[in-house]
Amino acid sequence: MQDMPKNMTVPDLPLIAEMALVCFHKSVIHGTGGFAKMDIAAGTRVIKYVGEKITKAESLRRCESNNEYIFSLGDESDFDGNVPWNPARFLNHSCDPNCEAEWAGEHLWIIAKRDIRAGEELTFNYGYDLQDYREHPCRCGATGCVGYIVAAEFFEHVKRQNRFASEVRLET
Ligand SMILES: [Zn+2]
Repeated sequence: MQDMPKNMTVPDLPLIAEMALVCFHKSVIHGTGGFAKMDIAAGTRVIKYVGEKITKAESLRRCESNNEYIFSLGDESDFDGNVPWNPARFLNHSCDPNCEAEWAGEHLWIIAKRDIRAGEELTFNYGYDLQDYREHPCRCGATGCVGYIVAAEFFEHVKRQNRFASEVRLET
């Protein structure tokens, strides 16, 4: 376990997040989402993304059981955010997100990419690669949504595949 404050029980932690910049409720994108409680300026550290540092072997095992909250930390270890004391795991993916995940020293932060208005849903790009991307459809609703949850560097590839798929459908 990492970042779990002493003398605190797991159910308390989402409440602490509630008191800061983010609240959690039902999202039109997917399930529960995180929302700005107040106006947030670009560059603000919105919420810390906490979790467990794990080995690559353990990471592989967890990925095989469909854990979608794992970040790569390089060649040696990974980071699993799928823990009850990490309310940031409720933040949804978007193709046009208003936040981004960024390492600051030892900690992974969700940082505002632009000024965010109170009430806006907070989103970041999950940074998934292309493996099995068709199993992760995106319903973010952004103009220019590519239809699948992938890192921005793969948007053009996925758009080309989408165009190709629709042309094939038209011909048959
Ligand atoms: Zn999208």
